[in-house]
Amino acid sequence: MLIIGPPGSGKGTQAERISERLGVIAISTGDIFRAKVKGETPLGVEAKTYMDNGDFVPDSVTNKMVRDRLSEDDVDGGFLLDGYPRTTAQVDYLDRILADGDQQLDVVLQLTADDGELVTRLLSRAKETGRSDDNETVIRHRLDLYHEQTEAVVAKYAERGILARVDGIGNIDEVTDRVTRCFEGHLTVPITSRR
Ligand code: AMP
Repeated sequence: MLIIGPPGSGKGTQAERISERLGVIAISTGDIFRAKVKGETPLGVEAKTYMDNGDFVPDSVTNKMVRDRLSEDDVDGGFLLDGYPRTTAQVDYLDRILADGDQQLDVVLQLTADDGELVTRLLSRAKETGRSDDNETVIRHRLDLYHEQTEAVVAKYAERGILARVDGIGNIDEVTDRVTRCFEGHLTVPITSRR
């Protein structure tokens, strides 16, 4: 399963909650990158400038990182990817990873919110978290990239008939309920036999 949404749509929060509620492993490429930046690993050092500028980390780095993560044993029962794919080239790459592992996507959830609301949310998050990519210029750039590149990703999954859209506006619990309803019907392993 995938969760896709513009910066500030709450996809990270919702992915974590879904992971707890449904017992499915959530994998966030943004979180993996932030951990590598913090740990000052070579990959983290390479990714940092792109992240600070609100740019995508190059596919040569990102794709391999995702392939490695998805080859670990804990994803055998299915997974929820948050923040990948963000470009149509990444969609093609993910298709290859999944085909190699004899797996397929069941559902792609797009969390929606309008740009005005997103900028307000992100500016307030910037005050709380001090994330280095949460200033207004970078926020606007990240939103532009979402519209220019990631909406094409969403369109691809819509064409395949596996896209579900969920309104990301409203209180967090309400949005979690909407997201849960959407994912529940697509679990490979029933909730009762998880964790
Ligand atoms: P996020 O936490 O999902 O907003 O991601 C934070 C940052 O990590 C992004 O602005 C990018 O710089 C980088 N990043 C995360 N996922 C990807 C991806 N799929 N492709 C390229 N860069 C990514």
